[in-house]
Amino acid sequence: MGYFVSETVIKEIKGRLNILNLIETYLSLKRSGRSYVGLCPFHDEKTPSFHVNDEKGVFHCFGCGAGGDVFGFVMRYKNLTFAEAVAELSKQAGINIEKTNRDNVRKTRRDIFFKLNRLVLNYYHMLLLESEEGGAARDYLRKRGLTLDIAREFYLGYAPFGWDTLAKYLASKKVPTSIAEEIGLIIKKKNKDEYYDRFRGRLMFPIRDVEGNALGFGGRTLTNEEPKYLNSPESEIYHKGRVLYGLDRARDYIRRKGEAVIVEGYMDFLSLYSAEIKNVVATLGTALTRDHTVLLKRFTERPVVIFDGDEAGEKASLRVLDVFLEEGISPHIVILPKGEDPASFISKEGRDSLLRLIEGAILLIDFYIERIQRDFLNRKISRNKAVDMVVEVLTKLKNPIERSHYIRKSGENFGIRENELLSLVGHGEKVRRETKVEIKKKSESQEKLILRILLKFPALSHYFRSKSVIDFIPEGEIKKIVEEIVINRVDDVSSLLCRFSSGPAQEIISESIFSTDDVTNETTALRMLKDCIRKLKLKAIEEKLSIMRLQIEQAKREKKDSLEERLIREYRDLIEQEKGVQGEANDD
Ligand SMILES: [Zn+2]
Repeated sequence: MGYFVSETVIKEIKGRLNILNLIETYLSLKRSGRSYVGLCPFHDEKTPSFHVNDEKGVFHCFGCGAGGDVFGFVMRYKNLTFAEAVAELSKQAGINIEKTNRDNVRKTRRDIFFKLNRLVLNYYHMLLLESEEGGAARDYLRKRGLTLDIAREFYLGYAPFGWDTLAKYLASKKVPTSIAEEIGLIIKKKNKDEYYDRFRGRLMFPIRDVEGNALGFGGRTLTNEEPKYLNSPESEIYHKGRVLYGLDRARDYIRRKGEAVIVEGYMDFLSLYSAEIKNVVATLGTALTRDHTVLLKRFTERPVVIFDGDEAGEKASLRVLDVFLEEGISPHIVILPKGEDPASFISKEGRDSLLRLIEGAILLIDFYIERIQRDFLNRKISRNKAVDMVVEVLTKLKNPIERSHYIRKSGENFGIRENELLSLVGHGEKVRRETKVEIKKKSESQEKLILRILLKFPALSHYFRSKSVIDFIPEGEIKKIVEEIVINRVDDVSSLLCRFSSGPAQEIISESIFSTDDVTNETTALRMLKDCIRKLKLKAIEEKLSIMRLQIEQAKREKKDSLEERLIREYRDLIEQEKGVQGEANDD
C-alpha cells in the first residue's frame, strides 16, 4: 500500500509506449487485417491466437483469455504487481515517476539486486580494462582471439586474486553484506562475521537477461584452478535453467535471421559472435531446459544446436530433441568433427566453414532415427527395441503432417506396416492428450455483448441512462465496467483500462475490443443492445418466477393462506410483465 500514481501519469506512460513495439521485444508478430497476431506467450499453442491492436493499445489471446494493455502485458509476462509494472514502464517511457513519487515508490528486491550486480559488473569491467593485474585476463582474451571491443560489448571483467577485494569495495560503497551474500558475490567465513570474495583470479562474464539486467556472473579461472568455470549460485534473480547467455545482444540478429545457433558456454558464444555469427546464444553449465526453449521461441522457431563431436554430444542430443518437441519445435543440429568445439573449429577451419555447417544443419529427429536404424542394422539393438525407441519419439511430434511423414518413413526403414506403427504412435498420443488441460471456451453472454457494443458505440450509453436498465445486468466484473462507461462516462478504452488496472476486467475489455467486427453500424448496434437488455430482463424475471414458485409451495405447505394469495397475485403480475417485455421486441 501507500503507492499511488495518478491516472494522468498512467496515461502519459501509455501515450509514449507503443504496445506493438513493446510486445515485439518479447515475441514475433505478423500483421493480419487490422491487428497483429502471434503465438501466445501465456499458453502453449501452435497456431497463433494472440492479437495486438496498436491503435487501441490492447492485446488479447483467444486461446487462454489473457488480455489487457501494456501494463497488463508486463504484469503477466514478468509476474509483476501493477505498481512494479508502472515503475518498469515509466522507465522505458522516460517518465521519472520516482522524482514525483519518490517517497511512495517501493523498490523491489529484484531492482536492488540488479543494481548491485551492475555496480560489481562495472567494477570488474574497469579492473579488466585498466588495472595492471587485469593484464593476465587481457592476455588470455588476446590468446583466444577476442578483442577489447568484444570485452566492452559484453562488459567482461576481471576479479582480482585478493581474498576480500570485492568485499572491501562493497563496504566502501555501503552495500549491506547480507544482500551481496544473498546473490553470491561474497561468502561468509565460518564462525566469523567476515566475508570473502566468491570470484578470485578469474575472467568475469556478466550474465544478463533478455532486457540486459545483470542476473549474476560466470568466472573462468586464469590459473587452472578448479572449477574451470564458476557461476553465481542460484538466487532469487538467477536461475541457470532460465537464462540464455548473450540473448540480450543477439536477439535482434536471431529475429532477423529467423534462426538461433545454440552453443554451450561463454567462450563458444563469444567466438561465434566475434566471428560475425551473431544470431547465437549459449546455455550455461546446464542442459537445455524447457524454459530455455520457451524463451527462445519468442524470437525464432528455427534453433540450430551445435554439438561437440564426442559421445557426450550425441547423448545430449536426445534430451535436446525432447525439450524442443515439447514446444512443438523441430530443432536442427550440427555435429562438429571429433575433438572440436565451436571455438577451436573456427580458429582451425574459419568462420565460413562453420557457417556452411550451420546452413547444412540436419533435423535432429532425422539424425536420431537414422542412428537407431544404424544400431538396428549393426545388430546392436533388436527390432522391437528399435521400434519402441522410434515410437517414443514420434509420439512427441505435435504436427500431424510431420508425424505421418515419419511414420511412413520409419515403417519402410524398419519393415513394419504403416498401420501397425500408426496405432502404436496413436496410442501414445492419446495418453498425452488426456493429461493435457483443456482450455475452456465460454459462450458469449448478453452482458459481454452489451459491453462490446458500448465500447464500439459509446454514444449508445445514453440508452442505459434514460431507461435505468443497468440493474438487469448480473453482478460481476462486466457490470462494473458497464457502470464505469454509463455512470462515470469513461468511454475511451485507455482510460477504462486505467480504471481496471488489474484483475480479470482487463481481459474482458481486451476481448471485447477484438470481437467488435460483427457490430457494424449504430442502428444495428442499438437493435442488438435492445435485444440484449430484453433478454436480460426476461432472464431476471424468470429467475424471480422460479423463486416465487418455491415460496408459493412453501406457503401452501405451511397453510399460510393470505401469504399464498398475495404471492400468487404478485406471480401473475410478473407474468404480465414478462409478456410486456416479450412484446418490446415488436415496438422498435
Ligand atoms: Zn494465450
